[in-house]
Amino acid sequence: MSDCIFCKIVDKEIPTEFLYEDETCVIFPDINPAAKTHLLVVPKKHIPTIADLEEGDEKIVGHMVKKAKDIAKEKGLTGYKLQFNVGKDGGQEIFHIHLHLTSTQG
Ligand code: 5GP
Ligand code: ZN
Repeated sequence: MSDCIFCKIVDKEIPTEFLYEDETCVIFPDINPAAKTHLLVVPKKHIPTIADLEEGDEKIVGHMVKKAKDIAKEKGLTGYKLQFNVGKDGGQEIFHIHLHLTSTQG
């Protein structure tokens, strides 16, 4: 998706500091943090919203949750929130799925 900002970040067209990267997802800090720690877990596959998940995509979403848990542990966070905003009416602004990891710690 050439006009998708998160595809551009994944493809390194927009330079962004990755805290983690593997073949399925990347993790980077939110540009406008809403909490002391605010990270975004973003899949490399362009999926517009959680409502667009197709058969097999649950593997990607499960992987994203696992990697969020791993980085939270690595950062010593003992409590945090994981959130998907789904659709315009759910507060979603970037239409490439992403998992928000927020914490008052960090
Ligand atoms: P949404 O409302 O779609 O769930 O969340 C989009 C998030 O992406 C927002 O928290 C916003 O601050 C963040 N964001 C938007 N553009 C960029 C960007 O270019 N770089 C980074 N790191 N975060 C972004
Ligand atoms: Zn995209």
